[in-house]
Amino acid sequence: MENIIEVSNLRKYYKTVKAVDDISFSIAAGKVFALLGPNGAGKTTTVEILEGLRRADSGRITYFGKEITKVNFELKEKIGVQLQNTVFFESLTVKETLKGFLGLYEKKFDIDILVKKLELEEKLNSKIKTLSGGQKQRLAIAVALVNDPDIVFLDEPTTGLDPQARRMLWDFINELKLSGKTIILTTHYMEEAEYLSDFVNIVDHGKVIACGTVEQLIDSIGMKSIIRFHSNKKFDSYFKDENLKIIEDTALSSEKKIYEIQTDNVETTLSNIFETTRKNSLSISEIAIRQPNLEDVFLKLTGRTLRD
Ligand code: ATP
Repeated sequence: MENIIEVSNLRKYYKTVKAVDDISFSIAAGKVFALLGPNGAGKTTTVEILEGLRRADSGRITYFGKEITKVNFELKEKIGVQLQNTVFFESLTVKETLKGFLGLYEKKFDIDILVKKLELEEKLNSKIKTLSGGQKQRLAIAVALVNDPDIVFLDEPTTGLDPQARRMLWDFINELKLSGKTIILTTHYMEEAEYLSDFVNIVDHGKVIACGTVEQLIDSIGMKSIIRFHSNKKFDSYFKDENLKIIEDTALSSEKKIYEIQTDNVETTLSNIFETTRKNSLSISEIAIRQPNLEDVFLKLTGRTLRD
């Protein structure tokens, strides 16, 4: 499969902070590539170097098989960028803003299709200052696509969107991929990376700590099923199992805790749990069985959750 971008030994340090610390990866054409990691992991710095907005201290970047030292005009025509924070002219309308950006490029996406897909039709003649945060976010994505780019950078595209708008955007990103575009996505939402990505790089403290397809990453931690439930605090003194994990949740009453147990044998573990609760007059609630996810991968690798 053709690699559209290759990055080798990329570094960017700010005084004592190693924002990007020797990162290497390849991005295949026509796929969704995700950089997943907590706040401050180095995702934005990495993509902004690729977008030509920041200069790396060292490393090598190739686009379409050719090494580049800066993002020139020819390359800018082929890439679209949605930044984490975009500032628009507040007194322009949505239409004027899109037309302004459209004028910067030779190749152009049909604006009518774009606003329809991003559900901005009704706002076309509204001034930017009247838009909600979610609408501005969708406009930033529309702006990233005005030049009908081959490569689209989306930096935390669904932050600030309600669940319905997030879902709509996920479908749209999938459509973009099916139309042949390569998507580079940064996110700290593991559901987003799981739903959209063909390949994930998990980053932490400026380093890639794991990479692969979602399936490969989950398989790599060798976890089977996870049983999750609420119980009285005494449960852990009666139930002895090395795979028992207690999740702190301050929203829960002081009498209760959340428990998770990894198991290869759901039936046996469930019957042990019920036996323990029955014998010791404990109670359990909200019992659920789930499969491991990327959050479990991150937790296993770092001892922290993505939101810590
Ligand atoms: P988030 O999910 O919060 O956007 P991120 O993974 O995108 O985080 P970056 O924005 O790349 O992380 O930041 C990586 C590290 O580099 C952080 O510790 C950040 O504080 C630091 N950093 C980023 N830009 C600068 C700068 N201009 N000067 C100094 N430090 C910086």
